[in-house]
Amino acid sequence: MKRLTATVRASEGIAIGRAFVVERGEVVAEPPQGSVEQEQQRFEEALRSSVEQIDALTAVNDVFAAHLEMVQDDMLRESVEAYIGDGASATEAVRRACDDIVAMFEGLDDEYLRERADDVKDVCSRLVANLVGDVRNPFEGLRDGDIIVDNLLTPSDMALVALDKVAGFVTREGGATAHVCIIARNHSIAAVVGLHEVLDCVKQGDLLVVDGGEGVVIVEPDEQTLAEYRMRRDRYAEVRERESASSHERIYDGERFIPVMANAGNVDEVRRAISLGADGIGLFRSEFLYMESAEEPSEEQQYEAYAAAAAACGELPLTIRTLDVGGDKAISWLPFPKEDNPFLGWRAIRVSLELRDMFRRQLRAILRASTAGRVRVMFPMITSVEELREAKLLLDECRVELDMQGIPFAEKVEVGVMIETPAAVFIAPALAAECDFFSIGTNDLTQYVMAADRGNAKVASLCDPYAAAVVEAVRQTIVAAEQSDTECCMCGEFASDSAATQLLIDCGLREFSVNISSVGKIKHRLQEILSK
Ligand code: PEP
Ligand code: MG
Repeated sequence: MKRLTATVRASEGIAIGRAFVVERGEVVAEPPQGSVEQEQQRFEEALRSSVEQIDALTAVNDVFAAHLEMVQDDMLRESVEAYIGDGASATEAVRRACDDIVAMFEGLDDEYLRERADDVKDVCSRLVANLVGDVRNPFEGLRDGDIIVDNLLTPSDMALVALDKVAGFVTREGGATAHVCIIARNHSIAAVVGLHEVLDCVKQGDLLVVDGGEGVVIVEPDEQTLAEYRMRRDRYAEVRERESASSHERIYDGERFIPVMANAGNVDEVRRAISLGADGIGLFRSEFLYMESAEEPSEEQQYEAYAAAAAACGELPLTIRTLDVGGDKAISWLPFPKEDNPFLGWRAIRVSLELRDMFRRQLRAILRASTAGRVRVMFPMITSVEELREAKLLLDECRVELDMQGIPFAEKVEVGVMIETPAAVFIAPALAAECDFFSIGTNDLTQYVMAADRGNAKVASLCDPYAAAVVEAVRQTIVAAEQSDTECCMCGEFASDSAATQLLIDCGLREFSVNISSVGKIKHRLQEILSK
């Protein structure tokens, strides 16, 4: 028996099953098969096939739209052509170009963008597979209940895996925002990533225990350990079942409906959240659209994404938060100034109010999408009434422009603000008078109230939403909203913590927006509290 532990929290749940260690054919470096022109030709053909394959996959998962852009990117093509020009085979040239681009991504500060290096590897592996004619499915032979073990699982891999067959995922590489984690969480599959020694310790067919919540993998457990984990797995399944029985319920406090909405980062997540019983989307993080793109997404691309998300919500609200970059979120194509305190610097609404043409394109796309469903718009990091007024003015200008162009949009698009700065808490009554709803962002609010960076492990104990000052800020916000009949939701992580639900109800909160996988859990907890 061997126990391996990772530090990343990938996807909770307990799985017990046989290891399916993915075997990938090693491509040996080959010399050029013909002249420079013939190698260029081979590359062109592989590129064409890859584009066709990825294009077909865009219907499976949004991430392939980003892959489509990557594979058609001029930087990749020019780099491959240059290596072929220097005498490399097409395969070798793709490998070297891939290494260069991956090194560039991995050198970035932002964790999310660093992990996009995996997407580049995925795209380049497909090009190489097409070059050498090896496009077999590495998951052939996967049995029901297997645990997939691999170096790294890419979105292309995930499109080939029958998710209902898999009990768990374990990978050597990857971080918390790797695609395998997002997909595993969305499908409630236990996963552990970043387990460096896994490929040295696990053989094909070994019995594994995966405890995703603890980041633990046990190889060939002894009888006692196995019995203990079987019990834990059954208990976990019972709790989830009880919770998921609540996920489609509508929760009431007496007469008052208590929506439990979900937070989503793309259209797939919106669909999943709604199918799992979320009462709408309380936070659509639009920045992912910008971060996954090689350039600013056009008004049309944004419109399509927002309209698809709105249609997936049907009658339920879709709250689109305008671009929230800066701080810990960077965009590769948007130059950010070097700042000593990025979280106190140029971020969120401050960026939008300066890059007005870009902001206008987003607002127009949001307004246009409002004909597809119940779209609401929300501004991040507001610190003054003037910022809200300026943003609303731009929104009104976009309305006039669209009207003049005869482009339709809904008559009523509600406007809200994130309450995530102490400034916004202090002026909450004034903000409430000029908007339709609030959403409390406890992730940022906590770090700003407590003056403790949300990403700094050294001050993690201070960055605590349970701290009296944070709870008081939350309470004051809710009171201010109530006094002016403004809706008040909470979309920060605190809303997904079932241990905090009673406290939040006591503070007067009656609207939640939580992680997709927490919808059932929070509805269940609310039922317990409100039925007392
Ligand atoms: C928050 O700050 O609580 C929030 C929901 O926004 P984000 O985590 O995206 O900054
Ligand atoms: Mg925030």
